[in-house]
Order: sequence, then C-alpha cells, then structure tokens
Amino acid sequence: MNCIQEDRINELLNPSAPPGRLEVKEILARARKCEGLSLEETARLLYTEDDYELQELFSTARFVKDKVYGKRVVLFAPLYTSNACTNNCLYCAFRSENKNLNRRTLNTEDIVAQAREIEKQGHKRILLVCGEDQSQTHVAHINNAVKAIYECCDIRRINVNAAPMTVDDYRELKKSGIGTYQLFQETYHRETYKKMHPTGIKRDYDWRISAMDRAIEAGIDDLGIGALLGLYDYKYEVLAMLQHSDYLLNKYGIGPHTISVPRLRPAFGSLIQEAPYPISDMDFKKLVAVLRLAVPYTGIILSTRESEALRDELLSLGVSQISAGSKTGPGGYGHEEENAEQFSSSDHRSLSQMIKVICDSGYIPSFCTACYRRCRTGKDFMDLARHGDIHIFCQPNAILTFKENLLDYGTPENISQGEVVIQKALGEIENDRLKEATLEKLDLINKGQRDLYF
Ligand code: SAM
Ligand code: SF4
Repeated sequence: MNCIQEDRINELLNPSAPPGRLEVKEILARARKCEGLSLEETARLLYTEDDYELQELFSTARFVKDKVYGKRVVLFAPLYTSNACTNNCLYCAFRSENKNLNRRTLNTEDIVAQAREIEKQGHKRILLVCGEDQSQTHVAHINNAVKAIYECCDIRRINVNAAPMTVDDYRELKKSGIGTYQLFQETYHRETYKKMHPTGIKRDYDWRISAMDRAIEAGIDDLGIGALLGLYDYKYEVLAMLQHSDYLLNKYGIGPHTISVPRLRPAFGSLIQEAPYPISDMDFKKLVAVLRLAVPYTGIILSTRESEALRDELLSLGVSQISAGSKTGPGGYGHEEENAEQFSSSDHRSLSQMIKVICDSGYIPSFCTACYRRCRTGKDFMDLARHGDIHIFCQPNAILTFKENLLDYGTPENISQGEVVIQKALGEIENDRLKEATLEKLDLINKGQRDLYF
C-alpha cells in the first residue's frame, strides 16, 4: 500500500532556502486558476514566512474559496454516540486506559433525543462520532442511529466519523443513507503513527489508510480525510494528505469531498497534553490557505477545537464548513456530563452567535444538504466542483436554507441582519433564470413550505 510516498515528501521538506517573492507570486498566479497545485508547489508555499507573501497567500485563498463555493459557509454539529473504545490512542480522552472517563454508549432513543436537541438549535446537518469498540459501536449501532434520526427529526444529512470497517460493513453503512464517511489518518508518518497507537486495532497503519479504498469498493463515494495536526510536522501531513487525495482521484476518479484540520487539544486523561509538534496560529492559517489552493474543489472543515478569534479569521481563508454549538461527549446536549468529553472545545459560541459572525464576515450561513439528495456525489460532485460550477447550486441553496433558519429559529438580531445578507446574496446570482427560480422558492418558504433546494 504505497499511496503515501514518504521519500518523496521528505525530499520536498527542509529546502535550502524559502521561496523568493517572484516564485510565490508565480505559484499564486497559477493557484488563481482554481486548478490546484502540484506537490512541489504546495511544499514551496508551506515554506513562505514573509509577511507580505503570507497576506498575498491569504487573499488568494479567499479568492479561490469564493470562486469555487461562492460566499457560503456550511454549518453542522457533531453528535457523539459513544465514548467506548478499545484502542489506546495516546492523545484521546476515550482511550481504553483512561479509567476515569465516564463511559457511555447511547441507545437509539437517547441518540434521537440528542439529535432533537441539535435540531432545536437550528441545525440540519449532523456528524455522528464514536469510539471504536466492536461490541458496542459496530455498524448496526451506527445504522440504527442514522435511520432513527432521519425518521424522527428534521435532520437532512448525517455524516459519520467512525473507525475503519470491512467492505461488507461499509456496504451496510451506505444503505443507511449517510452523507460523507469521514476518517482521519491522524498522522501519515508511519513512525509517529506507531508511537501514538500502541495497542488495539488502530495500531495497524495500513488497515486505516486503506479504509477509503474499501469504502469506495462498497459504493461510498463521498469521503472525508484529515490529519490530527500537532502529532508530527504539519508540512509533512499537508503533503501526505495531498498524496492521499491524488491517489484516490487518480485511482477512482473521486477525490476527498472534505479535508478536516483538527489540531490537537488537551484532553482529559490523555497522555499527550502538549503537541509534540506545536503549530502556531500563523502556521495554522497558512496551512489552511495552502490546502485551499492545492485542492480547490475540496471542502475544508473546521471544528470548535480552535479559538473564537482564529475561527473568525479562518472563515475568509478558505474554510467552507464549520461546526457550531458543539458538545464532544455522548449525551452532552441538553445536560452536560463531567469527564465524558473527547477533548476540550475552545469555541463555545451558540449557533445563532456563529450565524452573526459569519454574516459580519461577509459570508452567508448555509444549512444546505442538497448535493447528496440530488445525487451530486462522488465523481459528479467532483466534476462540478473542479470546473468551478458548484457555487451555482451553493449560493441559492444557502439563501433558501438560511431563510428557513431565520423563519424557524432566528433571533431578532439574526433576522434583521440575515435579511440584508440574503438580499445581497440574491444580487450575486448571475444567472437571471436561477435568480427568478430562487425568488419563487423563497416565496414558497415564506408561505410555510420547507426543504426546497436545487
Ligand atoms: N474512534 C474513531 C477513530 O479514531 O477514527 C472515530 C473518531 S474519533 C472519536 C474523532 C477524531 O477526534 C479522531 O480521529 C482524532 O483525529 C480526533 N481527536 C482525538 N483526540 C483528540 C484531541 N485530543 N484533540 C483534538 N482532536 C482529537
Ligand atoms: Fe478511540 Fe478514536 Fe479516541 Fe483513538 S481517537 S482512543 S480510536 S475514540
């Protein structure tokens, strides 16, 4: 299994000199075409340190994000179904040897109750998350949860972050109607991987890195990858994520739908309270911007692991999806339980506060779940996104879903600000017929219809 070529990455790391201004300028000019960057170009940009060049990098990332996706930022909330785990990842509160953690696996009823709490905030998208324990967090547990939530709540897209499975189990998972299947390699660096995962099934690097191949074989074509940043050199991880992405794209015609950038956080009972390879906020901004340029068609997901101030800044540097109002322990919504969380969040703002922040930054909050329901997944989605056409759907769908959100959950402040944002966003739809069709759907939403999309 050699989708990651460590030697190749190592050749690109630690160059004798950072890129000069002309070189950065040339790479950024190519990036503006929204066709992505080569591994070499990406590596060079990661070594940019100069303030002026960094600002140029950030404005190019903003340009590319807006061109590919339009001005929308999609919102979601995680739902932890279980913190049972038989692995012992040194960095995670759920690790098996953390005897002081309050272990809990929610039954289907509890999971639906949690989904209802999330829905009450105004969310339409959930990310189900669980530990890895074959006896409790097996595919049937996940599938029952997914089906029950779709049945009982107005949650319209459920993505899943769960441990690697067999092809047969992925087939089962697909049947339940999930959106994205997400799995982070944690670190693409084998030696570090070995140190971080001393026992349990997760010890096996190859079983994990080949998970996306098995998921694709099972027919899942909407995939999310990521690395837990801070375990090893972030430049290495970024380049490896690109190799992984290229490998999937070349082999199956399906690149990752999303890349997540979780940065290591202190976790209760974790053996790693300080990141072995700390990443400064500036480097974090740089890596997000570089990823945006390297894979312009891929969504970048940011969680509440990051601070309020940094999240606000990252909105305009290429991030396209963010979580809000999150709890990271099973049963955490509604009533908090002590010592059950996976890691401590940094941004505790509510969904309505995040809506305000997104509007203040010149973006439009989106609760869109249209693509997978219109079968714009896998190769079809990639084709649209890679040709820079996905914003044609994103913008009107953001307008429609934000309008619904304002009508059903909006605070007076969100409503008055949101109406202005919606009018502006309508003005940005270039195609007259699409604008007309959006206005018609908006009218129907005002009259009480729901869940309208393109
Ligand atoms: N147990 C499954 C697995 O390991 O793939 C499911 C996901 S786990 C609950 C979700 C993700 O949280 C992990 O993949 C890891 O990247 C991240 N995570 C674990 N510990 C963390 C920490 N201390 N800070 C930030 N993220 C963490
Ligand atoms: Fe378990 Fe996943 Fe946490 Fe590792 S990261 S201890 S597998 S929940």
